[in-house]
Amino acid sequence: EGMNAQDLGKILHREPTEIVKKLFMLGIMTNQNQSLEDDTIELLATDYGIEAQKVVPEDIGDLDKYFELSDNNQKDLKKRPPVVTIMGHVDHGKTTLLDRLRHTHVTEGEAGGITQHIGAYQVDIEGRLITFLDTPGHEAFTEMRARGADVTDIIILVVAADDGVMPQTIEAINHAKAANVPVIVAVNKIDKPGANPNHVMEQLSEYELIPEDWGGNTIFVNISAKTGQNIDEVLEMVNLQADILELKADPDRLAVGTVIEAKLDKGRGPVATLIVQEGTLHIGDPLVVGNTFGRVRSMTNDRGRRVKLATPSTPVEITGLNSVPDSADKFVVFEDEKTSRQVGEERAKRAELNDRQKAHRVTIDNLFDSMSEGELKEVAVIIKADVQGSVEALRQSLEKIEVKGVRVNVIHSAVGAINESDVSLATAGNAIIIGFNVRPTSQAQQEADSEDVDIRLHSVIYKAIEEIESAMKGMLEPVY
Ligand code: GDP
Repeated sequence: EGMNAQDLGKILHREPTEIVKKLFMLGIMTNQNQSLEDDTIELLATDYGIEAQKVVPEDIGDLDKYFELSDNNQKDLKKRPPVVTIMGHVDHGKTTLLDRLRHTHVTEGEAGGITQHIGAYQVDIEGRLITFLDTPGHEAFTEMRARGADVTDIIILVVAADDGVMPQTIEAINHAKAANVPVIVAVNKIDKPGANPNHVMEQLSEYELIPEDWGGNTIFVNISAKTGQNIDEVLEMVNLQADILELKADPDRLAVGTVIEAKLDKGRGPVATLIVQEGTLHIGDPLVVGNTFGRVRSMTNDRGRRVKLATPSTPVEITGLNSVPDSADKFVVFEDEKTSRQVGEERAKRAELNDRQKAHRVTIDNLFDSMSEGELKEVAVIIKADVQGSVEALRQSLEKIEVKGVRVNVIHSAVGAINESDVSLATAGNAIIIGFNVRPTSQAQQEADSEDVDIRLHSVIYKAIEEIESAMKGMLEPVY
């Protein structure tokens, strides 16, 4: 709520009536209690010869504010291992390759030591580490990116030599391009009789992945994940690519990074695998992870060994958090526990509020129940349609609906696709969105999914009306 004439009167040491008069002279009709727009306040302040400045309260819960990565030109940065994600079409050998890599180059004295699945692991080749994210496929990668977590430095694109480029291969290429992450192509299954690596190269050339031999700059390696052929070469190429990228980080600061995966463990409580992106994570560090916080109680590496610290690009499983974070959440270590707790509590509070609002989100499916519980005094609706005629027809019919004293209130209607601002409005006004011959934009759909806003798409007017009316009467036919 903005300030009104009374509030302003107090600040300016003037009678509220004078403020109202002044505003009237400036062409703004208001009374003493009506809250004023920022613009109006500014106008008034200027008239009194002072400058109005809106005080934006410091947003202590904004974790991104504390999440800072080093600028690569900064001094004192040290080389860090590359973080690699394996992508490719289903059955082309991603899992086989991940397993194969996992079992090669086990550090001496640790033979057979790699048994833990923590969501990421490191291999050591001649003293150089490479970190692999252990979830093959695109979802993890896409989700991370959607949430602003760019942890992957290099993508290994696995293409089976006997199958060639397939839909998910193309999808992976598009993800890599969108994220601006370099691709190394591993042409897999070359042990198979039907293998045709040349054909794969030809196909990929159409997607701007052109081998060096053909004048391009994409690294291709022919491998067999099954027999282990050329696996070392893949690792060498990863290191080569890492050198080109000059991956660096500052190990001497407070750690920040990203959650790879997290779960609730019966004995140990919340457990999260973090990948350190900057700084060094220590036992005892106070940290905020997504919407939760705590202190690092224990750290375990990908070999199930207890460790005391984790440097950049290292994945570790930690305990000591208050609750389970989500994968792709960011984490930030704080200097002192007090700040960490403040930020963490603020975020936890906010997340809880958000969840509660979501739980009360009105949808077609819970309309009747919400009405029966007396929670709902009116059903808020937003109408978007392809033509004005349909907007009006829908609006008029919907506003006529009345069930048990509850009516439909159209809080917004317009011609056009369902956009993000419609979804924000629906979130704020707890409304259902009806789209008539229009669809949501992809951002709007994403937003609606994350906020649990109900979007109903129709192409027959009476069906749209019937759906709302039936839902209000609790007579909605179950959908199978
Ligand atoms: P993903 O779906 O990409 O993870 O593929 P998988 O790793 O599960 O592999 C699918 C199938 O291909 C499995 O039966 C593997 O044994 C087989 N496979 C994977 N790599 C090779 C290889 O290099 N040569 C042969 N002959 N088969 C392979």
